[in-house]
Amino acid sequence: KTVSFGFEEVSPEEKVSRVKGVFASVASRYDVMNDLMSAGVHRLWKHDTIAKLNPQPGEKLLDVAGGTGDLAKAFVDRADKAGRRRQNDAQASAIVCDINEAMLNAGRARRDMAAYHDRLDWVCGDAQALPFEARSFDALTIAFGIRNVADRAAALSEFRRVLKPGGRLAVLEFSHMTAPSLQKMYDAYSFSVIPKLGEVVASDRESYQYLVESIRRFPKQEEFRKELDTAGFSAVSVTNFSGGIAALHYGWAV
Ligand code: SAM
Repeated sequence: KTVSFGFEEVSPEEKVSRVKGVFASVASRYDVMNDLMSAGVHRLWKHDTIAKLNPQPGEKLLDVAGGTGDLAKAFVDRADKAGRRRQNDAQASAIVCDINEAMLNAGRARRDMAAYHDRLDWVCGDAQALPFEARSFDALTIAFGIRNVADRAAALSEFRRVLKPGGRLAVLEFSHMTAPSLQKMYDAYSFSVIPKLGEVVASDRESYQYLVESIRRFPKQEEFRKELDTAGFSAVSVTNFSGGIAALHYGWAV
């Protein structure tokens, strides 16, 4: 069986190893490229994702494919603000799990992470075989990560396994624009500008070419919603951001 790596068909093992290569190579420039490519808008999408999760004191989050830890940090910050914490209330905490040590290292080294060492853990692991016990987390996020996973059904089944019953799942991913004319303009932008930006800013055209192709190959909103249904998540909803450039799929583990 083959899977897509951008527009190529490769074996699942080959995809895992090539995706690792892509993110090892972009790790040091990852945060700045994110801001440049999306003109900073990824921050708003992440903000809205965390708002939807409505984190509370004492909750435990698993941020899969968490990279440099944006969502995990936002989760614990927002939990601190939710309600007034009594002195003995447990604080919310999060584990950032990523297959790539280089991304985790870039996250740990971020200056704005210095104050979070007792709230965040950084664990190297694969979304398809998570190194955590069943029913361990109140919430699970994966942002711009599910697209890179070779066996999506295996990953979704893992998400359900490690979530507590009633736990919330939030999947933020690049998606497909709802207006076809806008999709055409967006394709023109992404296929020409993003690989060029990758070449100029990160000296790495290929990784950014993969990024654009993998976005196009990812299932449309409704199709992916059905995958979450099939994986056993309930009441799955879809929220489009920026006309569908990104979409948030949200549901409950039962
Ligand atoms: N979530 C972060 C964010 O939104 O900024 C990082 C997103 S980055 C585009 C994708 C991340 O997925 C990379 O850090 C990569 O190493 C990780 N990744 C790819 N395949 C993975 C897998 N099978 N399991 C866990 N992480 C994976």
